[in-house]
Amino acid sequence: MPGRDGADSTRFIDGSKITGAMYAISHAATALVLKRRYPEAPIWPLLISVQLVELLWVGLTFAGIEHFAIDGDHVRLDFLPYSHSLVSGLGLGLVTWAVAAFIFGQRRLGVALALGVVSHILLDAIHHEPDIHLLPVAGGPVFGLNLQSLPLADLLVELAYGWVCWWLFGGRRGLLGAIVVFNLLDIPLMFPQPGTGAMLSAHPAILPALILVQIVASWVVVWWLSSPREAPRDSL
Ligand SMILES: [Zn+2]
Repeated sequence: MPGRDGADSTRFIDGSKITGAMYAISHAATALVLKRRYPEAPIWPLLISVQLVELLWVGLTFAGIEHFAIDGDHVRLDFLPYSHSLVSGLGLGLVTWAVAAFIFGQRRLGVALALGVVSHILLDAIHHEPDIHLLPVAGGPVFGLNLQSLPLADLLVELAYGWVCWWLFGGRRGLLGAIVVFNLLDIPLMFPQPGTGAMLSAHPAILPALILVQIVASWVVVWWLSSPREAPRDSL
């Protein structure tokens, strides 16, 4: 559960901005670029690597160690320094590389997975309001270009990013269609919905659960539609 008494991980604050996780499909699309660059790397480890930071956030939020805040119907990720800091992202990437290189003897795969891990923090630093810490501690400098504060620009940028990833990968049209649909499905989440604050206050586990569902859904769709079993785009 997010908090032992339900109040640790969710508290009311003053403010009006809404923030949230970058679209899961954008992170998943990054795995396509890595797959193109490292074709020998299996797609599933790549898909997991680009969301390892988010999986950490889901786990820490369920555990009540990291938390979000609710202001009316606005949600803000106000405490996530352990999962989302530059140093923890680089450290997690380094550990991932070391495990692949020294335990499994696959250095090239390790580089691909480390790039996937670090890509998450870099993409989030563009999307998030300044809540990406330098160090995995409560204080210190924070980063974030706050693209999420401009929902239409955010949508267009993430659509364009997904298209570029798809184009670099050389995927089928169905894969591009899925990337577009996943982006469009996120539109309702970009705007505060009446009743959201009360619902999340009563059931704070819904937010990390929703993020987890998005992660898994984007994984499955990207895996399925990028699979070699499908005909490449050039043959259509
Ligand atoms: Zn994230």
